[in-house]
Amino acid sequence: MGPSCRANLTPVSEVVCIGSLNVDLVVRVSRMPDTGETVTGTALERHLGGKGLNQAIAAARAGASVALVGAAGTDEGGGWMRDQLAAEGIDTSAVAEVDGASGTALIEVDAAGANRIVVIPGANGWLTPDFTAAQVDRFSGASIALAPLEVPPDAVVGALRSARAAGMRTIVNTAPVPPDGLPEGLLDLTDIVIANEHEAGLLTGGAVTDRASALTAAHALRGRGATSAIVTLGADGAIWSTPDGDGHTAAYPVTPIDTVAAGDAFCGVLAAGLASGIGWELAVRRANAAGALATTIAGASPSLPSTSAIDQLLLAHPVEDS
Ligand code: ADP
Repeated sequence: MGPSCRANLTPVSEVVCIGSLNVDLVVRVSRMPDTGETVTGTALERHLGGKGLNQAIAAARAGASVALVGAAGTDEGGGWMRDQLAAEGIDTSAVAEVDGASGTALIEVDAAGANRIVVIPGANGWLTPDFTAAQVDRFSGASIALAPLEVPPDAVVGALRSARAAGMRTIVNTAPVPPDGLPEGLLDLTDIVIANEHEAGLLTGGAVTDRASALTAAHALRGRGATSAIVTLGADGAIWSTPDGDGHTAAYPVTPIDTVAAGDAFCGVLAAGLASGIGWELAVRRANAAGALATTIAGASPSLPSTSAIDQLLLAHPVEDS
C-alpha cells in the first residue's frame, strides 16, 4: 500500500501544524548496558511523541481547531497515534499513511534518570515539499501555520510557501536545528521564528546565555528574514523582537520536575493564542504559562496543559512584562 490520505472535502482549522509524529518507547533499566552486554529492563512504556504531534496537541488543548500535516507508518503505532490525535479533536486527514514503520524513539532511562535515545525517522522521512504544500492548501482558511523542524527541512519550506500564498501567519520553531543549518529561504517565509537558547546560539554563531545575548540573537534572526523572533529562556521566560518593538515576558514560578515538551507547549499555545485574535503580549504570556505548566508533569503529551490550567496560572500570578 502506498501513501494515502483520507478524503475530507471541507476541512476547517485555525492552526495547521506541519511536523513529526513519533512513538516513544521508553525502557527503564537499573543501569545502561555496555556494548555487547544484555541487562534486564524493569518497565516498558509507550508514549506519544514527535514535535509536530506535541505542538498540535498543545494548540488543540489551548482551544484552537487544529489539523496536522505529517506521515505515520502502516504499523500498529501509526494507527494508535491517529486515534490519540482524533481523541484530542485534531484533524488527521493530512497525515499520510506510509508503508513501513512510524517515526520511533527508543529511549533508555537509568535509575539516575539519565537517558540514551535513538530516533528512527520512519514515515516522517517520507515527507516531501509537494505533499506538504498540497496538504496545507487544503486548509487555506486557517490563520496560522506552525512548523517545527523534525522532518525533512525542504518539506517545511514547501508547507510555508503554501501557507504564505494562502495568507496565513507562519511560525517556525527551530527545533531541532538541521545538521546543515536552516534551508535557504526558510526565514524569508517566516513571520515568527521561535528558538531556544541552544538553537539561537547555533543559528547565530554566538553563545546565548542571558537576555542581552538572546535579544542580539533575535535581532540576527530577524536580519536573516524572519518578521519577528522569540528566544525562549527556560526559567527566565522569553525575549522577543517584532517590528513594533522588543520585549521580555517573565516566566511563571513553578517547581519543574521534567522539562520535556516545554518548548512544544510554548509554540502550540502561542499559535492558538494568535489564531484566537488575542494580542501579541498576551499570547506570549499564555505561551510562557503553558511552558511552565509543561515542566510540572512528567512526559510530553501528558504535560501539555488545558486552557483552564493556563487561565488559572495567569490569574494566580499576574506578571509584569519588562
Ligand atoms: P525548550 O523546551 O525548547 O528547551 P525552554 O526551556 O526555553 O525551551 O522552555 C520554553 C518555555 O517554557 C520558556 O520560555 C518558559 O516560558 C517555559 N519554561 C521552561 N522552563 C521553565 C521553568 N523552569 N520555569 C518556568 N517556566 C519555564
